[in-house]
Amino acid sequence: MICAYCGQEAKGTREHIISCAILDLFPECFATIDSIRGKVHLGDPMIKDVCANCNNNKISYIDSYAKALITKYFVQKYEKNDTVDFEYNYAMIQKMLLKYAFNDLRSQKDDSSFFTEDILNFLMNKDIATPLRNITVLAGLAINTSPAPDFIFGNNKIKWCKNPAFLSNSIIENINYETGEIKLRSENPRQDFIKLSFSYVFRFNSVQFLLLCWDSDISDDDLQSNNIILQHQYPYTILNINGNDNLSRCTSESTYHSEMLIDVSWGQGIFDDITWMRGTYSNESQQYLKKIEERWKAEEDDLAKKYPR
Ligand SMILES: [Zn+2]
Repeated sequence: MICAYCGQEAKGTREHIISCAILDLFPECFATIDSIRGKVHLGDPMIKDVCANCNNNKISYIDSYAKALITKYFVQKYEKNDTVDFEYNYAMIQKMLLKYAFNDLRSQKDDSSFFTEDILNFLMNKDIATPLRNITVLAGLAINTSPAPDFIFGNNKIKWCKNPAFLSNSIIENINYETGEIKLRSENPRQDFIKLSFSYVFRFNSVQFLLLCWDSDISDDDLQSNNIILQHQYPYTILNINGNDNLSRCTSESTYHSEMLIDVSWGQGIFDDITWMRGTYSNESQQYLKKIEERWKAEEDDLAKKYPR
């Protein structure tokens, strides 16, 4: 086998698509639901084309960072209006998401030509601390504001998908505030970005990251216009080299359960109005939902014991 990282002929070792250290944080999510292959299995999502040296020595520092980051901020759940003062190492977040995307692309036998020698060097070299220019990362909090508790859609704390749908306008066109009538937008093309090679969305429990990989020859102007759209059109925060941002909710009652749908900020606002009109945020509803969540938490504790990692 040829190692996907160093290109040397070697025996393949098992590499987790998402760091094992992150999966270990959520033992209650014991099943892998592979919607692309239409399979559910008990093993972790893995790929076997990385040599032992790269797997254990060259790229494992990324897993350690990922585990520390998720443990510190995102094992806990957040409430509707919570914000998080998020301190991070931007180059390390790029490395973590690029590594997972690269693993996923290879496991799907998808085109991974974006991962040139330069990018692989960036991943394999702990000492390269300068973020890549042609990568944009956004982050936001995934908070369930829907009337449907998490478990209704399965115990899906870790999810990812390639090329999520960046909408160009809100899913709901308008609401009649007197009657509560909702009009869905009939046409809503995806937002165009200049020289976008591919993108990914990653959900790790209470955070969602968007990774956008631009063609390496993208001009500074094009990069800037893309980032302006991302910054102003979506309820996410663009991460940057300063490594300190305030994260707020990036999900609505509709997008929380469909992470591949990236609704625009005003679309999220419209869904919040619908949630409010429906009374999901009345004291009574909130107390009822909290009781259900407590019972589900007890169930999760049992599942974690039943499926130790
Ligand atoms: Zn290797």
